Amino acid sequence: MPAATPPAALRKELSAPQKAMQKLGLVRDIDLALHLPLRYEDETRIVSLREAHDGQVVQVEGTVTRQEITQRPRRQLLVTLDDGSDTCTLRFFSFYPSHQKALAVGARVRVRGELRGGFLGRTMMHPAFHAAGGALPGSLTPVYPTSAQLPQAYLRKAVAAGLNRADLSETLPPPVLASLQEALRGLRAPLMSLRQALEFLHHPGPDVSLAALEDHSHPAWQRLKAEELLAQQLSQLQAKRERDALRAPSLQTQAGGLHEQLLVALPFALTAAQRRVGEEIARDLQRSVPMHRLLQGDVGSGKTVVAALAATIAIDSGWQCALMAPTEILAEQHFAKLIGWLEPLLEPLGKRVAWLTGSQKKKQRTEMLALIASGEAALVVGTHAVIQDQVQFKNLALAIIDEQHRFGVAQRLALRSKTPYRRPAGGGDPKSDAAGLDSRVRGDDGPLLEDGSLSEPHLLMMSATPIPRTLAMSYYADLDVSTIEELPPGRTPIVTKVVSDSRRHEVIERIRAQVAAGRQVYWVCPLIEESEAIDLSNATATHAELSQLLPGVIVGLLHSRMPVAEKKAVMALFSGGQMGVLVSTTVIEVGVDVPNASLMVIEHAERFGLSQLHQLRGRVGRGAAASACVLMYTPHEGGRLGETARERLKAMAETSDGFEIARRDLEIRGPGEFLGARQSGAPLLRFADLATDIHLLEWARQAAADMLSLHPESASRHVTRWLGNRADYLKV
Ligand code: ADP
Ligand code: MG
Repeated sequence: MPAATPPAALRKELSAPQKAMQKLGLVRDIDLALHLPLRYEDETRIVSLREAHDGQVVQVEGTVTRQEITQRPRRQLLVTLDDGSDTCTLRFFSFYPSHQKALAVGARVRVRGELRGGFLGRTMMHPAFHAAGGALPGSLTPVYPTSAQLPQAYLRKAVAAGLNRADLSETLPPPVLASLQEALRGLRAPLMSLRQALEFLHHPGPDVSLAALEDHSHPAWQRLKAEELLAQQLSQLQAKRERDALRAPSLQTQAGGLHEQLLVALPFALTAAQRRVGEEIARDLQRSVPMHRLLQGDVGSGKTVVAALAATIAIDSGWQCALMAPTEILAEQHFAKLIGWLEPLLEPLGKRVAWLTGSQKKKQRTEMLALIASGEAALVVGTHAVIQDQVQFKNLALAIIDEQHRFGVAQRLALRSKTPYRRPAGGGDPKSDAAGLDSRVRGDDGPLLEDGSLSEPHLLMMSATPIPRTLAMSYYADLDVSTIEELPPGRTPIVTKVVSDSRRHEVIERIRAQVAAGRQVYWVCPLIEESEAIDLSNATATHAELSQLLPGVIVGLLHSRMPVAEKKAVMALFSGGQMGVLVSTTVIEVGVDVPNASLMVIEHAERFGLSQLHQLRGRVGRGAAASACVLMYTPHEGGRLGETARERLKAMAETSDGFEIARRDLEIRGPGEFLGARQSGAPLLRFADLATDIHLLEWARQAAADMLSLHPESASRHVTRWLGNRADYLKV
């Protein structure tokens, strides 16, 4: 997507500071007006030297009584200033003749700097100074976040000018304003308008509480945060409504069809949670607008069978279903069961399952592509290969993406472009159509609905990394969410132990015991960010070590650089139960399902992220046997772990609840990292903070819905003001 396009005037020759401003996203007047100070300097008063205390940043005015240049201990300019109450020394290590001239004996000057005590008496190092006199500013001086090429004074002027010129007229209709007032009732201050809030924050008066400015609790901040959250909610709701105006095939279960047959064939009964989310999905599929739903459930909660049931609904209705996983080994492992269930049911109907992966031989691939294009393949399973250009579906109705957070924005866009996309008649902005969306219209070669219109597939995303409530309400507000909150019965809880690497031999003894009892063990090797090569050598070394220490046990090795066929062979031995120990890098992170595995050892656990640890731990505890997870850490020289690493391991030992883990992860890392790919390019909240501004978020949600229905003009003005053309990112 294109970056913000500068207005024509700026596109000519830009000066260095202008370029720097553009880089900071300061293009429109409103961008400048919304560029808020980091902190303030107080130049509103002159303090008498006698009353000022050491360490204080002060502005004083006085007469120069002495000036000398000394050479010791270093060449420096020393100037004595007398303000009538006391004197102080100004010291400059770098200075020019202009300094000497302006600070000549007898000159009256105004200086500003930090006062320090010292053996020379009170001093100021390199204070700012200019000739005395002149009016004092009536407000604090803002200090803006800036970059090296952009001088503070230049930016200050630009922001002031932008603030002056920007259109800050009210976008909130009276009822929405009233509801905001209500939401902010606790503030004991009248609701500020956006203009008032911004003018205040750029130039607060001298008597303001700096604490309220710093912790963003001041009414001016509240107004700003409310506006920002509203813009975010509006843009997501808008995206949702646009999608709701698209058409998708209405899919229904058939009496005696695959859906019923699969329910009968399953070797277990669905949990109540699986039934409920299954119904939520079935209801969506029945509607003729595309589903856009996230199915979240902890590792092992049984999402795959829910996906399989959704697939049968599409196939029952005569359409195709595509299933995508982030890696080949996952696609294979994870969907093996699903295919095992569905294939025998499809066969009598003359339908097949097609595979698409990157490592496929050309001949096989061509065959698969033909099956998909003819519609003989009712189910298409694979990796990113599914969304590559040559793949043409006959009639794709449902796309299921597993471990959706591991796919990037671009890949998800590509999936949507697999089927024709048409903007709703009369909807949307013709400019953005020309910019990006037209390329997604694929003419008339896609499936047609009965009334002749083009269709969009239903989309089901699955994730074992639950989204904490605040994020679900904010960044994912455009998504419907189904949650499986219980695990299938008969699982024994996993015991988690955090141990130092110095107890490695005990851990290996434990492995020996598990394997002797007929169980299997995963050993996950450290993740070393900078170097895949070191990563690999660690895994190889550990593999050799364990093979030697555990004679008679088959120890396998799995890492991402291995040829796919080899990986598959190793996985087959482990799934089949012949292999006792599987040493691997993080390739087994998600999806692998071997119920007989009962021990997970994670080496250098301090290097893994919290959700990754949780995913890994979820590989065990899938069967009836008591399972354990050993988090082995290697302390630094001092024998201590870093603060956040300790917090992560502690969280792992204390809870196995995926939601609790996600909540703590958010606390430790903040939303930026949490959101990963979805937010690349999209604006994170700049002012609002999800930890403290829930009340505003709740208000914004309601207000956005009201505004979009009743005041669409104001809504679009508000979104443009806040997000400009970045709003498009949110639609992915
Ligand atoms: P995830 O949600 O992590 O993708 P899976 O779908 O892989 O979980 O399911 C984990 C395991 O639980 C699988 O072996 C699956 O067959 C089994 N399973 C799923 N649902 C049930 C159920 N209702 N009762 C018993 N076992 C189930
Ligand atoms: Mg899964």
